[in-house]
Formats: sequence, C-alpha cells, structure tokens
Amino acid sequence: MPNVQIGVLSCSGEEMLGGTLARMATRKVMEKLRIGRVVSLCLPLYIAGGEEERNFAKEFPVISVDGCDKSCAKIATLKYSGEVKDTVIISELLGKDVVLSKMVSARDLTDVHYKMVDIIAEEICKKVDAIVAE
Ligand code: SF4
Repeated sequence: MPNVQIGVLSCSGEEMLGGTLARMATRKVMEKLRIGRVVSLCLPLYIAGGEEERNFAKEFPVISVDGCDKSCAKIATLKYSGEVKDTVIISELLGKDVVLSKMVSARDLTDVHYKMVDIIAEEICKKVDAIVAE
C-alpha cells in the first residue's frame, strides 16, 4: 500500500500515565517520524459522532494506541468504523505499573517519560511500516 494514509487513534485516558503517553507518542509519529503518512484521529470527536473521523477509519487502515488492555480506542473503532488493522497496548509494552500510575502534569514529565514516548512511537512506526509494505 505505498500511497496509503494510516489513521492512528490513541485513547484519551486522562487519569493515568498510559493515556498521556499514548497521545504524545501518536503526535510524535504524525509530526516527526512519519510526516504525511499518518493522520491522528480524535477519540472524543470520534465517539461524539464526527463523520469525517469515522469515514476516514472506514476507508483507511487504523492503528489503535491504548494505554491499557481496556482498549478504549480499539473498541470505539470496532464499534463505529469496523476493522482495526493493528493495535498497540502500552501496558503490555511498558508494564502495567508504569502505565496505570497516576498522571503527571506536562511540566513534571521527565526524561524517563520521554524515553517511554520514544519506545511507543517506534512501536507505532513499526506497525505503520508493516502496513505500507503490504
Ligand atoms: S485504554 Fe485504558 S488508559 Fe486508555 S482511556 Fe481506556 S481505560 Fe484509560
């Protein structure tokens, strides 16, 4: 799929670190690592009935990025648009203790957090590249 665009839908977990990391990693992939290839989809808008977001996900492959195995982004995609092409579950990648820990505010994020974002972003990129290579 050389010219395909890929939607990345991250969960919006506001109360745990996993949700914050999911959003930061998704932005990094879209803005720095796979510019022009990846479009991020807004989960709240998606759930609220955003036609553009839902139609995109019906037409193009979507990777869900969830903070934990409750998989809110994946479930919303399955419910409103159909197939999810691939998934990243951060608690499986980095461990539950880290991801389910309490959210820290943006100004308290440390180098350790940014390294976690890098790991997640790399995982998303691997999945993006695998879809493109199909
Ligand atoms: S997947 Fe987990 S972290 Fe993300 S919104 Fe759902 S419950 Fe919260």
